[in-house]
Amino acid sequence: MDASSRNAAPPSPAALPAGPSSRATPMMEQYFEIKAANPNCLLFYRMGDFYELFFADAEIAARALGIALTKRGKHLGEDIPMCGVPVERADEYLHRLIALGHRVAVCEQLEDPAAARRRGAKSVVRRDVVRLVTPGTLTEESLLDSRRNNHLAAIARARASAAAADSVFALATADISTGDFRVIEGDAALLASEIARLDPGEVLVSDALYADPELAPFLRTLRQVTPLPRDVFDGATAERRLAQFFGVATIEAFGTFSRLEANAAAACVTYIDRTQLGRRPPLSPPARETSRTILQIDSATRANLELTRTLGGERKGSLLSAIDRTLTSAGSRLIAQRLSAPLTEPAAIARRLDALDWFMRNDEALAQTRAALAAAPDLARALARLALGRGGPRDLAAIRDGLSAAKALSTTLSGVADAPAEIAEALDALRGPDGDWVGELNAALADQLPPAKRDGGFVRAGFAHPLDEARALRDESRRVVAALQARYAEETGVRTLKIRHNNVLGYFVEVSAQHAGKLSASPGRDAFIHRQTLAGQVRFATTELAELEAKIASAADRALAIELEIFDRFAGLIADAAAAIRGTAGALAALDVAAALATLAIERAYVRPEIDASADFRIEGGRHPVVEQALLRDGGPFVANDCDLSPVDGGDAGRIWLVTGPNMAGKSTFLRQNALIAVLAQMGSFVPAKRARIGVLDRLFSRVGAADDLARGRSTFMVEMVETAAILNQAGPRSLVILDEIGRGTATFDGLSIAWAAIEHLHEANRCRALFATHFHELTALAKKLLRLHNATVRVKEWHGEVIFLHEVAPGAADRSYGVQVAKLAGLPESVVERAKLILAELEAEDRTSTARRLIDDLPLFAASAREPGPSPHKGDALIAALDALNPDEMSPREALEALYALKAKARG
Ligand code: ADP
Ligand code: MG
Repeated sequence: MDASSRNAAPPSPAALPAGPSSRATPMMEQYFEIKAANPNCLLFYRMGDFYELFFADAEIAARALGIALTKRGKHLGEDIPMCGVPVERADEYLHRLIALGHRVAVCEQLEDPAAARRRGAKSVVRRDVVRLVTPGTLTEESLLDSRRNNHLAAIARARASAAAADSVFALATADISTGDFRVIEGDAALLASEIARLDPGEVLVSDALYADPELAPFLRTLRQVTPLPRDVFDGATAERRLAQFFGVATIEAFGTFSRLEANAAAACVTYIDRTQLGRRPPLSPPARETSRTILQIDSATRANLELTRTLGGERKGSLLSAIDRTLTSAGSRLIAQRLSAPLTEPAAIARRLDALDWFMRNDEALAQTRAALAAAPDLARALARLALGRGGPRDLAAIRDGLSAAKALSTTLSGVADAPAEIAEALDALRGPDGDWVGELNAALADQLPPAKRDGGFVRAGFAHPLDEARALRDESRRVVAALQARYAEETGVRTLKIRHNNVLGYFVEVSAQHAGKLSASPGRDAFIHRQTLAGQVRFATTELAELEAKIASAADRALAIELEIFDRFAGLIADAAAAIRGTAGALAALDVAAALATLAIERAYVRPEIDASADFRIEGGRHPVVEQALLRDGGPFVANDCDLSPVDGGDAGRIWLVTGPNMAGKSTFLRQNALIAVLAQMGSFVPAKRARIGVLDRLFSRVGAADDLARGRSTFMVEMVETAAILNQAGPRSLVILDEIGRGTATFDGLSIAWAAIEHLHEANRCRALFATHFHELTALAKKLLRLHNATVRVKEWHGEVIFLHEVAPGAADRSYGVQVAKLAGLPESVVERAKLILAELEAEDRTSTARRLIDDLPLFAASAREPGPSPHKGDALIAALDALNPDEMSPREALEALYALKAKARG
């Protein structure tokens, strides 16, 4: 799919031919009217068993879906282009159109065609749009990934001054398929990191924001941006709209919201109202989050650490897939949420760890919980569909089964001792809504359920007497039809006579052409009225049959009406209990996550991390959670390693480890495993280590040198520098920074100088905990001068001229790079390897290292000056331009260093 169709402006409204004219048919007039009211959408216009699209809509859809474009009638003398999709397969087509960035207005018939006919021959069936389908407002199982949330986001901005750096943003996110609703306020960096975390399916902005050139580069990176008129983002009416949506007098009951937060949240609910046309999904009241409670991880770091998906975009191979042992869709969504938003408050983290701990100590409870969860369907999404009027009988069954599983589990676990807070709370919520309608629902639903309620047949026989009667009548009449067929056959002497049914003729008598005469000539009766002659058959009607048909139809209609009434009654009871059901769903998900993480911890021997407010970071025997599992499959052991970035005695600033070692030694693995252990710990999971003590991080950064990003059209070096700049500008004393081979993408001396200056900056200005892997061995000399810089190396052994990777991290510096040996391992021709060895020997004689030693003694140490808040995206742009103007290949190390200082000065504005 091409990128441009995925975001930016919604597909241009399908242009209509010059307005409705007096010559348009009544149906076309209706079409024009509805289309004009929904100009930015493709209009799915219901006609019988099809949704039809006309004019430019038809052309767009036919191309997008690869379906036939045909014609239907004429308008102003021109053919009307048309295409159609069958109603039963509409979801599938909707899915494809939405994925391409289209919006669809679904227009239904609001009355029976017969009712329209009764009003007069010329009247048109009443129709109207019942729903706008957009990427952020989906609820259908077939349109969603059950393991992922689908967020609708709204961004509101307030500017303190003209400078972009002063902007404050509020971000509201709602998942109408599950009811989650949150709002957060902060600067541009927070906005970017929150959006990266939530990965919304659709982002709402005001027209003004959409047109702002400063935000354009950012908005372009999003999946789908929908600009909306000013009234949706009107601050003056925001609180009132929110209160209206939730049916409360004032939103103060939900907490104190800033004007900006209320604005973003109101934009979400207004948009939901407009797309769902008044149907209200069971949204929870907006929960207010603050940046201080969530570990901030920007999008480059998320991508880099492959938290929820790999660099290739897949779930498999990510940290999430390595740790996800949940059994339900809701649990799977919750564990992904927690992994994407680790906490920063030790007490909140401890609460989650206590729950996990408890499951590990109570293996019986663990087994019982997992057994109950395996039978629990997706309550939240079934609830949302029912509340929006899109639910089916299977959603009723999901509610019944989910609530029963929850109740059973609460009974099973009711006797447990010393349950920690999270478990006790969950057990409480498992009891579910009051009232015995769940039992009644169980009695009502048949064993086999049709997908759609309009199919009928989902209410169990014996549940409702009038329904049983109507059904008996309907079935009885069908038996009468069979008897009638036998009688007609006997009376006419045509043994092959059949009574059949179709949608056009209803019931009719059918005989082969050769016998038709016998029926027409049937003596003394006007019984057989000719209806239709086909190639081999002739069809007749009779009065008796017509009467019978009316009886069958009315009995069937009545049966269906009773079933739908029963459906609506239960749907109403469920909607009334929405809050309790959501609570039960949340409790099941929370138990699923705790039990899953306990299962993982047992399976993989993870330990409980010690989390506090110190600046410590001490991992003993740490392992990489993903690589470890991959190696396990290949039969290899993973070598555990220690890492200690805690402040040197009594200090407050953490340590920086400079990790050297040949290619393939395990540097990148070591760096990442420590970042991942921190993420796991702060999300409330046990960690792959013997022991871990972590003073909570507030931000996590990870960058890899020379990662090609051709897709975005930037040179690798450029990307690396932009990302490094962001870290040096943003990291603070509570941050953890992982820099992997920064400076690799350029000439050696440039790279060395930049890496050098970056380390000094981290040490003096950022004062954060950091791991820095490098192939510049010269840098190890810096440890002499920088008190908190610690040299570590991943050890290898040389044996008969070959390298053996030990994957052991030890104090000290790598003695050499072993590049030539690694090249040999890779299968470089022997002659090339020999030649390279010779050249290396020559070069080593010149000894680059001694130059570096001299520099360390001569160059004054990096001078840290007052730091200011991080840059805005706008400043980023200016930095990019400045960086772009540099030509590293023509600079001396000194010039490079100076350029870096100049860039920093620019970053400060
Ligand atoms: P480097 O960054 O030093 O080039 P990597 O971290 O990419 O090296 O590691 C190279 C390979 O070595 C990895 O793909 C992994 O299979 C293996 N490896 C790394 N660390 C370990 C370890 N601690 N135990 C076992 N195998 C490891
Ligand atoms: Mg590496």
